[in-house]
Amino acid sequence: MRVLFACAAALALSGCATGAVLADQVVAPALDRALQTRSQVADGPILTLPPVAGEVQRPAAAAAADGSTVPLGTKWLYSSAEAAAVSVQAFRQLGTYVQARHAAQLPASVLLGLPDRPDGLGTETCLLPGGGRKPAAVIFDGDETLILNRGHEYWRAASGQPFDPAIWAEWERTGNARLAPVPGAVAAVRALREAGITPIINTNRALETAADTVRGFAQLGLGDFVIGETLFVRGMDAAGSDKDARRARIAARYCVLAQVGDNLGDFADLFNERELGAQERRRIALRGEVAQLWGNGWFVLPNPVYGAFDRGGIDDVFPPDARWQPGTQVRTAPDIMTQGN
Ligand SMILES: [Mg+2]
Repeated sequence: MRVLFACAAALALSGCATGAVLADQVVAPALDRALQTRSQVADGPILTLPPVAGEVQRPAAAAAADGSTVPLGTKWLYSSAEAAAVSVQAFRQLGTYVQARHAAQLPASVLLGLPDRPDGLGTETCLLPGGGRKPAAVIFDGDETLILNRGHEYWRAASGQPFDPAIWAEWERTGNARLAPVPGAVAAVRALREAGITPIINTNRALETAADTVRGFAQLGLGDFVIGETLFVRGMDAAGSDKDARRARIAARYCVLAQVGDNLGDFADLFNERELGAQERRRIALRGEVAQLWGNGWFVLPNPVYGAFDRGGIDDVFPPDARWQPGTQVRTAPDIMTQGN
């Protein structure tokens, strides 16, 4: 058993080839419980949502809107079986990892986006000054990580309107009945609580609407979150949408076992730096220390609809060595074995 936990620890910090198999053995009971709730995963909300008075009418400006006008990413995230499957897959991997890490009782948190190192990454101790350990926690983003903003994205697709902060604020206040949990989220959060691990939300929803946000999460069966204790929002500090300071505040009280998000700014602010080009941002995600974290402390939910990934034009998306056109014979293939390493 000691060897098993040692390998789980190695998995957390540097990678371990057999870690996944061993972790499965460690958490079999927890997985059994999760599988028993699979109908909840498949069927979405456990609790019955309150009815919404009247039918929502399609915006007049988009009376002709049909499936062909719904952006591909929007279709994929909110209606595809593939997106649902990827989400459940991510939450299942999270459960396996967190249970193993919790059992290993490591002395430090997972890597966080704390500004105590030149590259913006850092860890915090899990030990209390007077002895003992901080309570264990997992940090989640909210939007498109635990909840799907279906109603708001319907409006955007149907109206063709770009993101509008004022309309988003109205959605935060009034849209709870049109939220849905991300598939797998409810079972995952409940399993954490059953294991004595505190789920904490670090979201860029606004402080002014935090009470509505609390109600929305509870309504979906995700449980009760307390503002400033287990729910951290934009406006609690002077850092705007940056989350590193909030992560530091959480890690001062909790031993953070994992981070979960749909935008890489949910893991470290450096990913949201505006001057980063798309390819440079991708290279940072794939470099050694950071690359070790995906599925291994940091867990990503899919979101092709909005986020910091949306930058650059065709020359950024396809650098010169990625381009081809009919009638062109490419003479030298890229070395795919070394790309990104
Ligand atoms: Mg999000």
